[in-house]
Amino acid sequence: MKANKKLEMLSMKDGLTGLNNRRSLDKQLEIEWKYAQEEKEPLSFLLFDIDYFKAYNDTYGHIQGDECLKEVANIAKSVVFDESAFVARYGGEEFGILLPLANQYEAIKMAEAIRQQVEQRAIIHQASDVFKGVTISVGIMTVVPSENIQLISIVHGADQALYEAKRTGRNRISVYSHHKEADSNV
Ligand code: GH3
Ligand code: MG
Ligand code: MG
Repeated sequence: MKANKKLEMLSMKDGLTGLNNRRSLDKQLEIEWKYAQEEKEPLSFLLFDIDYFKAYNDTYGHIQGDECLKEVANIAKSVVFDESAFVARYGGEEFGILLPLANQYEAIKMAEAIRQQVEQRAIIHQASDVFKGVTISVGIMTVVPSENIQLISIVHGADQALYEAKRTGRNRISVYSHHKEADSNV
């Protein structure tokens, strides 16, 4: 087994980026969901995805793609200074951030800060349709958990909002809203 894979299995870390992996995010979500439900406090989840990343790999190669993932991971880590925040690599080029006690306003602020930092880093991406550099789209859901809401709905909501951010132009954030499925209000 490769050293990276071993690390991944043992420590619940993602081997490439050093972030928490999907499995540990799922565990943390259960803990934070219970806590927020008991305390009647909000819980926010950000899901973000690199824009036109397939084109990035096709243009610069898979190894450079990996470097890009590491760089984006480092930006996310550096922006999220809150100790209780949980930053994870959720899938290939998707990242998830759990923000305990964060209301929608705080979640939007955090999402916008990460989006801006990635844009400002200007990691050259000539095949992107939105910008000369690498950008991300972010989906956000904030909820005060209760018995009649399923834990997974916070992931689904953020995912729907992410889809909306992609659909409406990329390099932007979008907030899940019950009323309009996913509503972009920033
Ligand atoms: P969109 O703007 O809609 O997100 O388009 P996209 O091209 O980013 O989305 P798509 O899902 O088509 O492509 C995701 C790409 O991410 C495809 C896959 O090869 C690449 N990818 C996933 N995991 C890794 C990885 O660990 N390293 C590298 N280099 N690429 C990866
Ligand atoms: Mg994707
Ligand atoms: Mg993508």
